[in-house]
Amino acid sequence: MKDDEHGVPAGSVGTARHDAPVTRDELERALRRAALATEGVRDDVIQLAAQVVALVEELTRRLDGVPPGPTVTPGTLEAAVDEATPAVLERIRVRDEGSSARVLIGDAEDKYRTTADGPDCTALLPICQARCCTLHFALSSQDLDEGVIRWDYGKPYLIRQRPDDGYCVHNAPEGRGCTVYHHRPRPCRQYDCRGDARIWADFDRREVAAPSPYARREGSTPTELDLIERVRARQVALAMEGFAIGTREAERARQAAAQARAEAAAHVGAPPAARDD
Ligand code: SF4
Repeated sequence: MKDDEHGVPAGSVGTARHDAPVTRDELERALRRAALATEGVRDDVIQLAAQVVALVEELTRRLDGVPPGPTVTPGTLEAAVDEATPAVLERIRVRDEGSSARVLIGDAEDKYRTTADGPDCTALLPICQARCCTLHFALSSQDLDEGVIRWDYGKPYLIRQRPDDGYCVHNAPEGRGCTVYHHRPRPCRQYDCRGDARIWADFDRREVAAPSPYARREGSTPTELDLIERVRARQVALAMEGFAIGTREAERARQAAAQARAEAAAHVGAPPAARDD
């Protein structure tokens, strides 16, 4: 399509072409915002549910004439509900932690400061064929901001895997090396395969485990304490994600304002257009 006499592309809205392509950065920014908003709504609902459960439990206790437990201070109904809500909230969050509908996000630790004392991966690679690179794990805000490591848009923020062989998309089919080694996510830096039955039948004898339909699943069933820890780590990670998105948007606004100022200055300083008359 041709531009009009003002140089505006045909089929445009303002100065942007109606079907202008969307960059990966723009798409991921929108997906991250949507995921964060969904998590926010979900947490609001969970907090409301915790208050309702605490209220029902307190009313039931009073109607049944059960004396308050040792941890509950006798007082008004409202005060009792306020006091009981945090424990109920944690209970509900722990139960919700295993839901497959949740956004999975890695912890907020700096991956470049991670230390590990795992086995020598390079020496093991010909035997294990990097089976650990078929395991699922979630990326962190740091990974998302860098934009090097790809994630699964259908399941934020799990590492993206190839549908044909189940390996991480950054694993080289030839030689099974990591093609993003410097930027690899924190779970890749921390992981120690030696006790993992999905990888080794017997690590000391270097016998790999038989291929299993469960090989790509997350680790063993978490305990209650693991879940409580995960809930806390998630709260911190989501707060960091909100901060990261806000910081990026502030930076974008700053760059756009600087560009607009530069364009305005160039316009003011430009020589007047040649006149025909
Ligand atoms: S990022 Fe590298 S080390 Fe981590 S799963 Fe992918 S290929 Fe393996």
